Amino acid sequence: MKKIVTIITLLFFVFVQCKDKHQHEGSKIQKEDQSGPEYTSAYICPMHCKGSGSDIPGTCPVCGMEYEKNEH
Ligand SMILES: [Zn+2]
Repeated sequence: MKKIVTIITLLFFVFVQCKDKHQHEGSKIQKEDQSGPEYTSAYICPMHCKGSGSDIPGTCPVCGMEYEKNEH
């Protein structure tokens, strides 16, 4: 019986470590996504399309929406 408990404990630790890793990677991806010009430019697309964002007002070349002033 002691062996089974050891195996279950081991499996539990593996499971927890996997979960932690996934959560960490998820937050890393989210952070990277918001560091692009579609988030940091003075004028940005409301949809944050990839390749959008400008120093001057205009429209998004991807979706055609008007740029919004970046308040961040
Ligand atoms: Zn857009």
